[in-house]
Amino acid sequence: MDTLKKNWFTEACELWPGGTFSFEVKEVLYNERSEYQNVQVFDTTSLGRVLVLDGIIQCTQKDEFSYQEMISFLPLCCHKNPEKVLIVGGGDGGVAREVAKHPKVKEIVQVEIDAKVIEVSKKYLPFMAVGFDSPKLTLHVGDGFEFMKNHSQEFDVIITDSSDPIGPAVSLFQENYFSLMKSALKPNGIVCSQAGTVWNDIELVTSTLSHCKKQFPAAAYGYTSVPTYPSGQIGFVIGSLDKDVEFDKPTISFTREDEKAMNLRYYNSEVHKAAFVLPTFVKYQLS
Ligand code: SAM
Repeated sequence: MDTLKKNWFTEACELWPGGTFSFEVKEVLYNERSEYQNVQVFDTTSLGRVLVLDGIIQCTQKDEFSYQEMISFLPLCCHKNPEKVLIVGGGDGGVAREVAKHPKVKEIVQVEIDAKVIEVSKKYLPFMAVGFDSPKLTLHVGDGFEFMKNHSQEFDVIITDSSDPIGPAVSLFQENYFSLMKSALKPNGIVCSQAGTVWNDIELVTSTLSHCKKQFPAAAYGYTSVPTYPSGQIGFVIGSLDKDVEFDKPTISFTREDEKAMNLRYYNSEVHKAAFVLPTFVKYQLS
């Protein structure tokens, strides 16, 4: 195979120098700069449709369900009654699609900074953007960090589905963001944030978890596999205002019939429990 041939996209980012991931492009469906970032959508030979922001893969049709289901159902199933949920970021609609499936969720508020990502996802990524059609959802365009300043004791669960900490997402990885989220939560509320990979950036995982631990009486890192993310793995920092929460004991279990009806292809109660069992080098680094 000629790895230098044309029509291959190569992800290159200063966050993980020295190694990279490439895929073959069938067609460039969209390639424009928005007010915040470069937005690209590709049709590919092996991954289906792919969304790329500022040169970084956000999601592929082949494996997005692992990320979207885990960032949604880990916190939702750690909470006893997750009626009102805030999503920060998530402009492709995939997290809204998953959160709307949970039987106890009544209301979803979402704040995404980039209207262009929403528009492009609706046009080219309908399998995720279907989340925007949920009657439970109210969608705002704005900065999640600023939005959080104006909300107090309002949400049961806050999910931060942000891009990596460069560009508009930098503020979402800082300790004061965890402090603002804490204020926006109802008693016993839970937060869950995209927190990077232990193979390529364990410092980011460590600092994000440490910010969370400073604000929340209970905090942990849960992981999942996403083959098209750097090193094939990503994780979430999860924090709870309930000091007695047991993250590895889901408060609700879905039957096989539920899983089928909800089209859950990755998340189940066993995967939930296993997500918090960490390899030795991670366990001691994060303790
Ligand atoms: N699953 C993806 C990942 O981890 O790579 C994230 C997908 S989603 C497309 C990320 C979204 O976060 C983007 O649409 C981006 O515009 C949005 N975002 C970044 N910074 C933000 C901020 N400060 N407030 C709200 N949304 C933000």
